[in-house]
Amino acid sequence: MNSVTVRAPSSTANLGPGFDVFGLALDAFYDEVQLTKQKHGISIITDDSIPVSPRKNTTGLVVEYMKKKFRIKSGVQIRIKKGVPAGFGMGSSAASAAATAVAFNKLFSLGLDGNTLVECAGVGELASAGSIHYDNVSASVLGGFIIVRTKPLDVIKILPPSDLRLVVAVPKITVPKKKTQVSRSVVPKHIPLSDSVVNLANASSIVAGFVRKDSELIGKSIQDVIIEPARAHLIPGFYQVKKNSLKAGALGVTISGAGPSVISFATKKSNLKKIADAMKKGFANKRIDSQIVICKPSNGAKTI
Ligand code: ADP
Repeated sequence: MNSVTVRAPSSTANLGPGFDVFGLALDAFYDEVQLTKQKHGISIITDDSIPVSPRKNTTGLVVEYMKKKFRIKSGVQIRIKKGVPAGFGMGSSAASAAATAVAFNKLFSLGLDGNTLVECAGVGELASAGSIHYDNVSASVLGGFIIVRTKPLDVIKILPPSDLRLVVAVPKITVPKKKTQVSRSVVPKHIPLSDSVVNLANASSIVAGFVRKDSELIGKSIQDVIIEPARAHLIPGFYQVKKNSLKAGALGVTISGAGPSVISFATKKSNLKKIADAMKKGFANKRIDSQIVICKPSNGAKTI
């Protein structure tokens, strides 16, 4: 085998109270990464506006790491086709990293398990977020709902209920270059115990909702009194979008990852078109156009 192509989905991190712990793969957008053996070195080819230097692109870091870890001598050419918009809280760099780890595993017949693929894909996040974090990459690699425990790394996957639906609003605004760093800097360092109790109760209920396949329980537990209030001001129109969506029947609404996308949780029975229109109007109130996607959870990265 000389070449492998893998398609990996977008993802939403946090799901409100699960900051840095929860991830959910979404079949809203996909990245495609093709790895081809070449004589020497690592090279990146793409038409999209992302860095092409291997050290600055999540895919390059993953290939470099995996080459070293598994003592692979061959050079690798990386061809990237972006489908996940970069920098909007949809796990864009993670989707590329996930696709790369899965493709590398296949190209060199390594037979790696899910945890190892996640560990390798996580290294890529150094290029985008400046630190290794696993919520988006685990969701993108494995699919479904993910709980990430660190020290030691333990990635727990739960299959989402089949009637869970999400409506994502991606505002067409210019995101600052250091968006993830900015949105991390506003997160409070100290929190009242009472707030921690509220978030813990909601996070636990979200997990219970996934285990019991209860989309209503998941949706109504998407409530975060710690991170969302601190970050909301970074997203113009956030509270209007949230209010409109809840009024249109969404069960829960929060920031997707570090934003600026906003995600609503609903079920197959909800009026999804009404929620979508309501979210669009929320951003339009601030004269911001947005791309709205109605989607389901995704099954993760696949070879194509
Ligand atoms: P989000 O999770 O909000 O989509 P990311 O963590 O994906 O944000 O960060 C996007 C940043 O990562 C951009 O500045 C982009 O230049 C950088 N980046 C590096 N490699 C990639 C890649 N393969 N795909 C997308 N973005 C990448």
